[in-house]
Amino acid sequence: MKPAAFEYHAPESVDDAVGLLSGHEDAKVLAGGQSLVPMMSFRLARPAGIVDINGISDLDYIRCEDGVVRIGATARQSALEESGEVTGCAPLLAEATGHVGHRAIRNRGTLAGSLAHNDPASEYPAVLMALGASVTAVSSGGSRVLSVEDLAGGHFLSTALGSDELITEVSVPAQSGGHGFAEFSRRHGDFAVAGVAAVVSMNGSGVESASIAAFGGTSPARLDEAETALVGSDGGSSAVAEAAARAASQFPATDDIHGSADYRRALIDVLTRQALQQAIAGAQEV
Ligand SMILES: Cc1cc2nc3c(=O)[nH]c(=O)nc-3n(C[C@H](O)[C@H](O)[C@H](O)COP(=O)(O)OP(=O)(O)OC[C@H]3O[C@@H](n4cnc5c(N)ncnc54)[C@H](O)[C@@H]3O)c2cc1C
Repeated sequence: MKPAAFEYHAPESVDDAVGLLSGHEDAKVLAGGQSLVPMMSFRLARPAGIVDINGISDLDYIRCEDGVVRIGATARQSALEESGEVTGCAPLLAEATGHVGHRAIRNRGTLAGSLAHNDPASEYPAVLMALGASVTAVSSGGSRVLSVEDLAGGHFLSTALGSDELITEVSVPAQSGGHGFAEFSRRHGDFAVAGVAAVVSMNGSGVESASIAAFGGTSPARLDEAETALVGSDGGSSAVAEAAARAASQFPATDDIHGSADYRRALIDVLTRQALQQAIAGAQEV
């Protein structure tokens, strides 16, 4: 099907983009178009206006400054895989990016667009929760910084963003500790049925800190009960098993054509063990 008719705008600055968003009640930002365009083609989305941000060259950057990786809104997902800043400062983000769709999709899709879309099966919102990342959202009224947890947590295919707000930057604190990532999808490149991302740091007596988040449920979720079970433990197999059991019970599982809620909880148990074993092994090498 073809999209319904819409007005097309191609601003060349953030000021012009947010001016257009505030002036058009039913306008949508177009970034990589990898989620918005299919939704428009199926007429699941019928925005009256499109604000195409691809011409705002100031937003196409990835840099690591003062221990923070800063990623502009039009930086492509494929650029994250190739960036020394990302592989060096946030290797969990680089590893997870390889699981997002296929290369052709990552050549157009953006990290900010994925966060704004917030598909519950998407890797990025949960990965960025585990990394403690935040976004800068700009509107004609000013700007604010939201943690990814506040932006995406508890939301289904929506976020805490206002319709007049543009994400201009995603900020990711440099990862401290080892990371783990595990997901299950039926074929490589498909959206995952469920997945887990974790960052763990160790000291001489065991696990010092743990940050665990999961995707594939009703919304991306930070699993703080699993974190509590792990922190202060020796990081051995029984502590990992206890954390995984708590992750499975806290995970907001859902039934759909890809699997039942019980099946997803069982997956989260297994995937949490795998992610934590990888993260703990990595933390022991740091
Ligand atoms: C076949 C296929 C397979 C895929 N597989 C996966 C997968 O396995 N995992 C995965 O995570 N994703 C997957 N995707 C989705 C892909 O990662 C998208 O690129 C991503 O979800 C959206 O990013 P985008 O830049 O294309 O955003 P767009 O499609 O341009 O926009 C998506 C939404 O976000 C809004 N938006 C975009 N940028 C901003 C911004 N800066 N500020 C405010 N709002 C904004 C738009 O208005 C729109 O509502 C797949 C897509 C396809 C087509």
